[in-house]
Order: sequence, then structure tokens, then C-alpha cells
Amino acid sequence: MHSISKFLVILVLISISRIVCAVDFPEPKIVKINDRIHVLLGPIQHANKENQGYMVNSTVIVGDKGVILVDPGGSDEVGAYIKKQVKTITEKPVAYVIDTHSHGDHYLGNQAFPEAVIISSEECRDLVIQTGDQWVKLMEDLIGRQLPNTKPVLAGEVYPPKSKTSVEINGVKMVIWVPLGSHTHGDLMIYLPEDKVLISGDILINGVPPTMQDGVVKNWIKVLEDIEQTDANVFVPGHGALMNRKQVRALRASIEKFYADVRNGYLNELSESEIRKTLDLSEWEKLERSYVIGRNINRAYLEIEQDEF
Ligand SMILES: [Zn+2]
Repeated sequence: MHSISKFLVILVLISISRIVCAVDFPEPKIVKINDRIHVLLGPIQHANKENQGYMVNSTVIVGDKGVILVDPGGSDEVGAYIKKQVKTITEKPVAYVIDTHSHGDHYLGNQAFPEAVIISSEECRDLVIQTGDQWVKLMEDLIGRQLPNTKPVLAGEVYPPKSKTSVEINGVKMVIWVPLGSHTHGDLMIYLPEDKVLISGDILINGVPPTMQDGVVKNWIKVLEDIEQTDANVFVPGHGALMNRKQVRALRASIEKFYADVRNGYLNELSESEIRKTLDLSEWEKLERSYVIGRNINRAYLEIEQDEF
């Protein structure tokens, strides 16, 4: 080879390796639930320069012919990184991606799985159409750089509102559960009856307060009661460590009390800022991402106002 073409080859190789290694994502903590279910516990902080938009839990379910991956992360690059993490667990390809809801940190990684069937709720797909581009923009603002290759990718297989559908995917029995809109209007949960595992998206969260601004708080309380009625032993939240039944119950109790206290304030004709002073927020205030509390009060207040009108 001529030295000039050798030089060009080296240059190309260097630029390829730059593209591949451009971003250092934090490593997830990998938790094995049983032989076929692993959870990649992502960073708990909101998207920022350090985590580059990797901030979500992803569940890896290894089926007979391929992997079912729940929540592929917040950009095409995070998706590709999660794909690499899946490879450390199994050689099988990701055949299905399930999106729990329409918040970009959970689904913008769809793009890294062009060969997979993508599943979401009907409502989630509609919300991705409406808000997908805003989510890419928000993610770019939060991580401080452009994501020129990240495009919102829609699910090809969708499930209707308020449905529970038993399916078997790659030999894994699961219930695709679309509850009343709680954390968002398009939530979807996955229940694995043989494994007694519930994967909830952000209807369950651990170590961060619930984010209510796009949700319906009253429904959320009801859905948490329904979750408690399942015979699951392990609950996979959208963010934070795995949960047990006692923690699910505590979360429901805290949202229930929050909602009742905001309602009392409303009935006593207090303003939102006056209501805030009456609430015991100590449990949520000490958590990561506690800035959502003000928006939560606003969401609950508007909901109560509408109900009482
Ligand atoms: Zn969310």
C-alpha cells in the first residue's frame, strides 16, 4: 500500500473510533432477578452532561429466540450503549423493545434497534407523535450538545387503553397491561406471571419523587392499589433500585396523603403556595430531583379544581 493511502486508512480508522467512543456513559448496575431477567439500573440523576441522557432502568428478558428489552434509554447513543450492555448478558439479539411511556428518557433509544419489533400503548404512540421532537430538544438542552441522529421512533405494535393482554413472546408469558393513565396518559406495564415480576415504568419510582406533571394523580393512586393486588414479588421501577411490596405500599400511601392534603388546601381556599406550606414534604425533599414537587402540587391542584367544578 502506498504511504499516502496508508495514511488515509489510519485517518479513517481514527475518526471511526472517535465516533464509536465519543461518549462515556456511566455504567449501569446489573441486577439478576432470575436466569432470564436482568435489570440494568441506570443513573438516577436527571439527564445532564455527566450521564449524557442515560438515566433510566432497562429490563432485559432473555427469551428462547431473542431478548425482550423494556425501555431502551434516552437517545440513539444511549440505546446503542444499552445494546452493548445486553451483550454482556446474552449473545441473543434484541428482538422486541417495549416502551413503558412517552417520556424521552425511556424510549428515544428505540432507534438503536431497527431490527426489533417496538411495542407501546396506543396513547403512548400518539404522544410520541405530538411530543417526540420536543423531547429530543429537551434532551439536547439537558446534556449540553446536539443529538443530530436521534429521531423519535414509533411503536409498530400497540395496545389499547385500559387493556390487559396475555401474550407469549419468545417463550416468555407476559401480560401487557395498559392501565388508566397515571404517570402519563400512555403508561404501559409488563407483568410476568411465571417470574412474578412487574415492570412498571415510572408508575413506580425509587429514590426520586413521583413526577406528576403529565399524569393523573387520582388514577395513579388507583393503579398503585391494583399493582398491590398482583402476586408479584419483585417490582422494577422506572428509576432507582428494585422494590418490594412494602415499598410499593409506602409509595401509594405518600401519593394518597399528598393528594388528600392538596385537596384539603383547595377546599379551604388556599393558593398553591399556601398549600405548599401546609404539606409535609420532608420525604420527597431529601430525594434526587425534588424540584418536581412544585409541579406536582400544580398538577394535583388543577385536577382537584376540575373535579370540584
Ligand atoms: Zn417518565
